Amino acid sequence: MNIAFIGLGNMGGKMAQNLLKSGLTVYGFDLSEVAIQHFTEAGGIVCDSPQAAAQHADVVISMLPAAKHVKEVYLGENGVLSVLKAGSLCIDSSTIDPQTIKDIAEVGAEKGIKICDAPVSGGTIGAQAGTLTFMVGSDDAVFEQAKTVLQHMGKNIVHCGDVGAGQIAKICNNLILGISMAAVAEGMALGAKLGIDPQALAGVVNSSSGRCWSSEVCNPWPDISANAPAGRGYTDGFATQLMLKDLGLAIEAAGQVKQPILLGGLVQQMYQQLCLQGNAHLDFSSIIQQYLPPQA
Ligand code: NAD
Repeated sequence: MNIAFIGLGNMGGKMAQNLLKSGLTVYGFDLSEVAIQHFTEAGGIVCDSPQAAAQHADVVISMLPAAKHVKEVYLGENGVLSVLKAGSLCIDSSTIDPQTIKDIAEVGAEKGIKICDAPVSGGTIGAQAGTLTFMVGSDDAVFEQAKTVLQHMGKNIVHCGDVGAGQIAKICNNLILGISMAAVAEGMALGAKLGIDPQALAGVVNSSSGRCWSSEVCNPWPDISANAPAGRGYTDGFATQLMLKDLGLAIEAAGQVKQPILLGGLVQQMYQQLCLQGNAHLDFSSIIQQYLPPQA
């Protein structure tokens, strides 16, 4: 099976490496020279456009920053849909709005090309280890076909429903995550101010009803969770600007169906402020800085 991989950044680069380790042939394209260099070193075949990569492929996988990049790669002048054969499969793993992938799938269907959304959870560590969770939106037959490829990059491959349902699952999960991280930051900062040892507080929370991923695995207070970004200056994690993007997607989707997003709207403003303060690239657990006195 030949694969075209478009978008070889922090996530895509590591996912493509796992496909190569499984012995698959991978043709790749990215705009970044650094990304291309890592891909070549791992044994990938570099192409000079998405179209050129897709010409060799039975399956296209994309891992791009946002919807405008996904539209360009599939529907643009050098887009992959103009060269793929009928019967080919495209899997978009970027986190984008549900409507964009539905629109692209409609264009694909006119050409007999199967398209599904498969956004991921697990971050760069999961991408490297090949333990990502994929949230797939497609019909049953396309899901079964996509699974044979996704199993080389992930551990949990979940069928969420028709095209777009994977993105719905992803943006709702990240809405909950963005809120829960702010809640843990607020509680940890209050506890410290009131005089309890943060280690003791985290110990209680993590064996009580306040326990969640943000308190246990990625606690925003430094040196509570092993290997969490808080222990290394909030670097090498899930960037605040990506969390801000995902909250924007949830709020936009909620607006379309007139569903209130109360806490999501509030924390979106907090992450927005964090970005404005120059922390867009720091892990989103750095939201705890909104509760602490400025560092000298
Ligand atoms: P990234 O910025 O590291 O990588 C994106 C890559 O796409 C870059 O290398 C960029 O050069 C390339 N690119 C942009 N436009 C392109 C185009 N037109 N053609 C080809 N390549 C193009 O981002 P990332 O962290 O890998 O995230 C990718 C997606 O995965 C995002 O939608 C993000 O929200 C999602 N995601 C990220 C994480 C994470 O922890 N980083 C976790 C889950 C989901």
